[in-house]
Amino acid sequence: MSNYKTKDIKNISFISHGGAGKTTLTEDVLFNAGKIEQIGSVDEGSTKSDFIPEEKEHKYSVNSSYFSFKLKENQVNLIDTPGYADFRGEVASATRMVESSVLLINADSGVEVNTNYVWNIAVENNNSRFVFINKFDKEGTNFKEVINELEENFEDSLLPITIPYKEGDEYKGVIDLLREKFIGVKDGKESELNDAQQEVLKEYKLELVESIIELDEELMLKYLEDEEITDEEMNNALLKGVLSKELVPVFSGSALHNSGVKSLMDYLLKLAPSAADRESLKVQAGEEEKEFETTEEGPFIGMVGKTMVDPYIGKLSIFRIYSGSIDKGEELYVPRTKDNYRVSKLYKLNGSEQEQVEQLIAGDIGAVAKLDDLETSDTITKEDLDIKIDPIKFPEPMLIKAAAPADEADNEKMSSAIQRYSLEDPTFKVDYNKATKQLLIKGMGTVHLSVVNDICKRKFDVGFNLVEPKVEYKETIRKKVSTEVKYKKQSGGRGQYGHVMIRFEPLPRGRGFEFDEEIFGGAIPSQYIPAVEKGILETKDDGVLANYPVVDFKATVYDGSYHDVDSSEMAFKIAASKAFKQAMQKAKPVILEPIMDVKVVVPESFMGDIMGDLNSRRGKISGMEPQDGTQKIKAKVPQSELFSYATDLKSITGGYGYFTMEFSNYEKVPSDISEQIIEKRANEED
Ligand code: GDP
Repeated sequence: MSNYKTKDIKNISFISHGGAGKTTLTEDVLFNAGKIEQIGSVDEGSTKSDFIPEEKEHKYSVNSSYFSFKLKENQVNLIDTPGYADFRGEVASATRMVESSVLLINADSGVEVNTNYVWNIAVENNNSRFVFINKFDKEGTNFKEVINELEENFEDSLLPITIPYKEGDEYKGVIDLLREKFIGVKDGKESELNDAQQEVLKEYKLELVESIIELDEELMLKYLEDEEITDEEMNNALLKGVLSKELVPVFSGSALHNSGVKSLMDYLLKLAPSAADRESLKVQAGEEEKEFETTEEGPFIGMVGKTMVDPYIGKLSIFRIYSGSIDKGEELYVPRTKDNYRVSKLYKLNGSEQEQVEQLIAGDIGAVAKLDDLETSDTITKEDLDIKIDPIKFPEPMLIKAAAPADEADNEKMSSAIQRYSLEDPTFKVDYNKATKQLLIKGMGTVHLSVVNDICKRKFDVGFNLVEPKVEYKETIRKKVSTEVKYKKQSGGRGQYGHVMIRFEPLPRGRGFEFDEEIFGGAIPSQYIPAVEKGILETKDDGVLANYPVVDFKATVYDGSYHDVDSSEMAFKIAASKAFKQAMQKAKPVILEPIMDVKVVVPESFMGDIMGDLNSRRGKISGMEPQDGTQKIKAKVPQSELFSYATDLKSITGGYGYFTMEFSNYEKVPSDISEQIIEKRANEED
C-alpha cells in the first residue's frame, strides 16, 4: 500500500525560457529534500535533470525530467521541463500532468521569447501558477524593474511574497514579506528584520495585505473597520486566491546559491493545490460525457503523458493517474487498442533512475516498462471502461526537411530508426513521399532535428543528413490538340498494326486524368480501347518538359483503324503512347507547382517585415486578422519558397512568430522559374 494519500500529493512543473535556472533550482530542491547528497552543476554536466548525453553536451534540457520525493507531509512529483523553444512539446505534456506550475524568470533578462509561450500553456492546462525570479546574485539585477515588467506582461494579479534584499549591489538573501523574516544567503538561516530590512518590508507589505484582503469580503470589512485580522485568516484568503487562480504568488532568490529555494518550497507545500483539489476529470464515454473525482476510491483511470525508449529497460510509458489505483502485477486496459496488459513492474522516476513501487494511486505520476503498444495521450484504465480522455495538445512541427543516409546502404536502417524515434516524440513527424522518393521529417526547428539525429545515432546506431525536400512538380497542357499515329511493322511473319486518332484537351486544376472514346462503326474494335488508355497511363508520368507527371488533361480516342491479323493490344498501346508524346509537344505544356495555404501569427510590430518577406517568396496575401496584440496573416505561397521559412520566421521575429501551412492547390510556374526547374532537372538526370 501507498504510505500517503491523494490529498498529500503535490504535482508541480518548473517552466521557463531556457537558461532561467530550472535545472539548478531542481538540484537545490532535491538536495534540500535529502534526495541527493550534493548539488550538481549544469555547467559541469553533473545534474540529475540533464542526464542524456545530448543534454550534457549542449547544456540545455531536451526532455522533461521527472522526480518524486517526500517533503514534510507531502509526496511531491516535480517535472523539470526544457526551456528551449524547439522542445515545447515537453511543456505541453508536463503542464497537462500537474496541478501547479512555477514559472522561472531570469532577473537579469526579464521576460524572454519563450516566457509567454510556456505561461500560456500552463494557463490552458488550468494550472495554479507561481513565479520564481532567479539570479538576484547577479550584478545590476533589480526586483522593482523585473516585477514592473512582469506586471506589464501578464494580466494576472502578481503577489510578491519573498523579495531579494541587497546592500548596494551585493545580494544578501530574501525577505519573507508575510512572515516578516530575513533568510540570509550565506547560512540560509532565518533572522528578525534589521532596520534597513524593515524599510524594504514597509514598501511592499501594505500592497501584499490589501491584495489578499480584497479577495474576501468579510476580511475587507474587518480591515476597513480596523479590526485585527489573524494570520490564519490571511493564509486562508491567500490559499483561496491561489486555488481560484486569481492570485499568482511571486518568490525570489538565487538558485546558484540555493537561496530563497526553501521558502519557495515551504510556500508551495502550503499553497499549491493537492491532487485531490483538482477539478473532476471529464471524459468521453461513447456519446456521453462522464465525470470522475480525483480520489483513490474510484475506478482506475490514467493517461500516458510521455513515452520514451530507455536503453536498459526498453520502452517506458510515463503516466498520470486521475482516479483509483493500480498495483504491481495487475492488468490495465487500453480503450484505444481494446486490449489488456499485465503490469509486471511499476516505477516512480527520479531523473535517470527508476524506483520500483508496489502501488500507484490517484494523483501519482509514474511509469510502466515494456508495454510497446502504449502511446502518448492514451487513456489507461481497468475493468474494460470504454472512455477517452482528451488528448494532449502538442504544437505542430514547422520545419520540414528530407533525411538521407550518409551511406546509401543504410537507407532502410535509417528509415526504421527515424520511424521508431517518431513514436516517442509527438512533435516529430515522418512521411515518405512516393513521388519524390524522399523521407520527409518535420520538427520544431533545426536544434530539434539535430538532437533527433544524435539520439538516432546513439540508440539505433545510424544518423542522417538533412537535405532540402524536393518539390512535387507536375506538368499539364494549355491547348487542345489532336494527333494521329499509325504504328505499323509488317515486314515478314506476324506484323504490328495500331492506328489511333486522339484528342488531348486541358481539364480544370485537380481533375487529374480522364479518358473517353468516341469510336463509331468499329473503326477500332472495342477490345483494343483499354490498351489505348493503358498506353497513355503508362506514359503520362513522364512529361515532355522535365519528366514530371502530366495531370489535368483529357484524352479522347475518336478514330483509327485496325488490321485483322497484325493488330494487337501491344500495337495499340504503343500507338497511344506515341500519340501522347507528340501531342504534349504541341499542346503548350507548362510546369505546375504546389501552392500552400499559409497562416502566420506575429506580434503587430513585425507586420511590415513579414509582408515584405512573403512578397519576396511570391506569396499572395489573402487576409489579415488581429488576434490579441498579434496579427494573423493568411497567404498563398509556393511550396518551393517555404522550406526555410521556419528558421527565417524565427530570425525575423526573434522567435515570436509561428506559422502553419497546408496544401492548397497546383498553379502554373512563372516562365523564368520554369526554365530554372527544367535546367536543374536536366542536370539531376545526367
Ligand atoms: P534551465 O535552462 O532553466 O534549466 O537553466 P539552468 O539551471 O541550466 O541554468 C542556466 C545557467 O544559469 C547555468 O549556467 C547556471 O549555472 C546559471 N544559473 C542558474 N541559476 C543561477 C543563479 O541563481 N545565479 C547565477 N548567477 N547563475 C545561475
